[in-house]
Amino acid sequence: MTNVAGTKRKKTTRGVPSTRPDKSARQTGFVAFDYEPRTRLIFGVNSVERVGELARELGAKKVLLVSDPGIVAAGHAERVERLLKSARLKVALFGKARENPTTRDVDECLVAAKSAGIDTIIGLGGGSSMDTAKGCNFLLTQGGRMQDYWGVGRATKPMLPLIAIPTTAGTGSECQSFALIADERTHQKMACGDSKAAARVAILDPVLTLSQPARVAACAGIDAITHAVETAVTRKRNALSLMCSHEAFKLAAGGFPDVMRRPDDLEARGRMLLGAALAGTAIENSMLGAAHSAANPLTAHYGMVHGQAVGMMLPLVVRFNGQDAAARRAYAELASGPEIACVSEGHERALEALIARLESWLNLAGIPRSLGDCGVKRSQIKTLAAEAARQWTAGFNPRPIRESDFVGLYEAAFEQRGDGDGA
Ligand SMILES: [Zn+2]
Repeated sequence: MTNVAGTKRKKTTRGVPSTRPDKSARQTGFVAFDYEPRTRLIFGVNSVERVGELARELGAKKVLLVSDPGIVAAGHAERVERLLKSARLKVALFGKARENPTTRDVDECLVAAKSAGIDTIIGLGGGSSMDTAKGCNFLLTQGGRMQDYWGVGRATKPMLPLIAIPTTAGTGSECQSFALIADERTHQKMACGDSKAAARVAILDPVLTLSQPARVAACAGIDAITHAVETAVTRKRNALSLMCSHEAFKLAAGGFPDVMRRPDDLEARGRMLLGAALAGTAIENSMLGAAHSAANPLTAHYGMVHGQAVGMMLPLVVRFNGQDAAARRAYAELASGPEIACVSEGHERALEALIARLESWLNLAGIPRSLGDCGVKRSQIKTLAAEAARQWTAGFNPRPIRESDFVGLYEAAFEQRGDGDGA
């Protein structure tokens, strides 16, 4: 069995997306898919004000509000609590969600949920708050421990309704049925997925994302862009996921530079928030690729922020995959949407234009380009490459990728230079 963020496990499990090519792809050019939208999407300025009404529609009486200390300090948790109370709902706040949540965080959240006797959960914050909320939902409704749900489709009983309210534009967790929870003891990231774990409602209010610190917005934005780029070329890409990837990329291409230069630009914030949600929907349908495989060991060994790690590896992975004609074409088509390139001018040219644009965004985000500047040791390349090659996402990469290829990618990542160096 396998997981999105972690390494392969020995057993296979029903419902886990296969990395093997399917018949439909050979006959139609499109991979077969089976996707039922599970999350009602509500987008709009101040749409968070509908949270009380929406919770009541789901039958809520007692709500657990899961958030993190930054969001509590920004006043968002208090506002949502007030909105829920004015809809005559009881609210318990768990405001201690941490970045890269572990099994311990979920256990603490579970204690809060149990003592309050709740019937609905709201995740308010970045991916970590939403993942902690999802993790808590698994344990509260199914029992056992988080490790029992590592994989896909392991929840047998109904789960509580979840409302996701993202305050960052990045992970797209609000549109995914996976909770990414690390094992507190081994630090192994476990992707625990079940269609019942997906949020019933996601409230996309761009006003809430104005409070993101610049560094958070930069890394989250690069993560969302990486999701759009990777999902557009994976072997699991299909007609539906491509629609989401292309629109997400177009929105992010327009929104990201504006958000970096003008943090108060609400229109740009809206583009990024919507782009991140659509990219999340694309992941749910097409999985991810080698930039995520190469990034996860950097986070595991060096604590590198996820958005930075995927961003540093992305241009190198695009160049690697671009040697495959079908992948090159897919990148050219992606780059044509926001007019970064034009397919009719040739796929090679479009690929180079895409890479140049990705690099300019990384510079804009202040993301260092050389792994050497981030404390990564060259002597560790072999270990990192071995772990990257075992990541599940590597199996969805459009071009077959082996451990020796990851060695090449990491070596190249020591040589790159950009305006963001030393940032
Ligand atoms: Zn990511």
